[in-house]
Amino acid sequence: MTLHQNLIAGEWVGTDATKNINPSNTDDVVGEYARASVEDTKTAISAAKAAFQAWSRSGILERHAILRKTADEIVARKDELGRLLSREEGKTVAEGIGETVRAGQIFDFFAGECLRLAGEVLPSIRPNIGVEITREPVGVVGIITPWNFPIAIPAWKIAPALCYGNTVVFKPAELVPGCSWAIVDILHRAGLPKGVLNLVMGKGSVVGQTMLDSPDVNAITFTGSTGTGKRVASASIEHNRKYQLEMGGKNPFVVLDDADLTVAVEAAVNSAFFSTGQRCTASSRVIVTEGIHDRFVAAVGERLKGVVVDDALKTGTHIGPVVDESQLKQDTDYIEIGQKEGARLAFGGERLKRDTPGFYLAPALFTEATNDMRISREEIFGPVAAVIRVKDYEEALFVANDTPFGLSSGIATTSLKHATHFKRNVEAGMVMVNLPTAGVDFHVPFGGRKGSSHGSREQGKYANEFYTTVKTAYTLA
Ligand code: NDP
Repeated sequence: MTLHQNLIAGEWVGTDATKNINPSNTDDVVGEYARASVEDTKTAISAAKAAFQAWSRSGILERHAILRKTADEIVARKDELGRLLSREEGKTVAEGIGETVRAGQIFDFFAGECLRLAGEVLPSIRPNIGVEITREPVGVVGIITPWNFPIAIPAWKIAPALCYGNTVVFKPAELVPGCSWAIVDILHRAGLPKGVLNLVMGKGSVVGQTMLDSPDVNAITFTGSTGTGKRVASASIEHNRKYQLEMGGKNPFVVLDDADLTVAVEAAVNSAFFSTGQRCTASSRVIVTEGIHDRFVAAVGERLKGVVVDDALKTGTHIGPVVDESQLKQDTDYIEIGQKEGARLAFGGERLKRDTPGFYLAPALFTEATNDMRISREEIFGPVAAVIRVKDYEEALFVANDTPFGLSSGIATTSLKHATHFKRNVEAGMVMVNLPTAGVDFHVPFGGRKGSSHGSREQGKYANEFYTTVKTAYTLA
């Protein structure tokens, strides 16, 4: 089996390998991937530091061409890379191909941004003086990504980092190194100079921690759990470096009496269960007013009967497996906790057997849940959702905001008044009206509030707030 190595200072290196396992079929080894050591990670950081001066001054056309070429190759290989994604993470092939195309679109967008770098020229408050405001790269950017979007999240961090002239040390989640290796290989062949992008696959406690501890990493962008996010924050404060965190969610989806039932059911089922509920923007709290509650729950039950949970690579599968044994245990533990707390397990929640050994779980829907139960307060990160019955819109909004998180949110309603009020008053970084809480565009800001996020937004042109620093220059005329 070919060993996929780390890319450090422009060379493919590494022998200590780990196996990448398919969660739909644990007998299937997707590939072998090198594991970086502390020393490898330090070498990668030094290489990125050494490459910074030249890359930060490189021509915008050079950067544009490399990102553009990368975008083209990703899109041209969307079927192959989409299948690789499904095989290593467990999303359906359609979801895998969709995410791969998205990664290509993101590289394409930032290829364009290379040609749109701009500053400002202003008059000074003093006579005969001009003021220029320019944006400069931050330096060495450490990128740490989670397993649930193996190609899109690396793309939306690597593309802007390179576009704005930073060099990169990139650590993907150990569970899903395949897509990360593929995009680094594509970028390397597209002509990135040595050391500009370094790939260090391996354990968070080894590779990630070495990045956090290094004084030579000038900024860290992190997506993952709240616990690791807090470590990133405290280490970054220690080193006085810039950091950006995207962490968990407990996203509310409100269904009002006046909702179009079909729209509400589709959006709720998609939000809660598609991509196996393993999206930070998934909704696991469905807050339903009493006039529509019973009809809504019955219709969701009917809809779930038609949902096929099976091998992610099989045609006809709607929901693939959970990513691994420990995530599956977390999901089933919460299903038990919910029942003990007094919620009613109305549908699903049982482990499923399929033709191949994998981590299959029937989407679980609780009813009669309250917002103070652990299943309503803590992120589960699986196909498990709870319906909370409320009296009216006002109570729905209160419950929606009664959470330590604030990433995404949604409402199903035909009332302009309530939709408008919800958009203005829900405490979340993103709001969806008659749409699932997950599913975002790449050219507009992505991120949350409260315990979900820290720092400036990701994606679109807002990304430059993190990947650049502003300089103000005064010149005597
Ligand atoms: P983790 O926080 O466990 O891991 C995220 C990344 O951090 C991985 O690459 C991991 O490495 C690394 N890491 C682990 N320990 C350290 C450390 N000590 N120092 C530096 N890096 C470390 O999260 P998961 O990958 O398990 O992802 C699931 C979680 O991520 C969920 O809670 C979910 O809500 C959240 N998430 C949030 C998103 C958002 O945009 N808000 C998007 C996606 C997920 P390793 O490979 O060893 O695990």
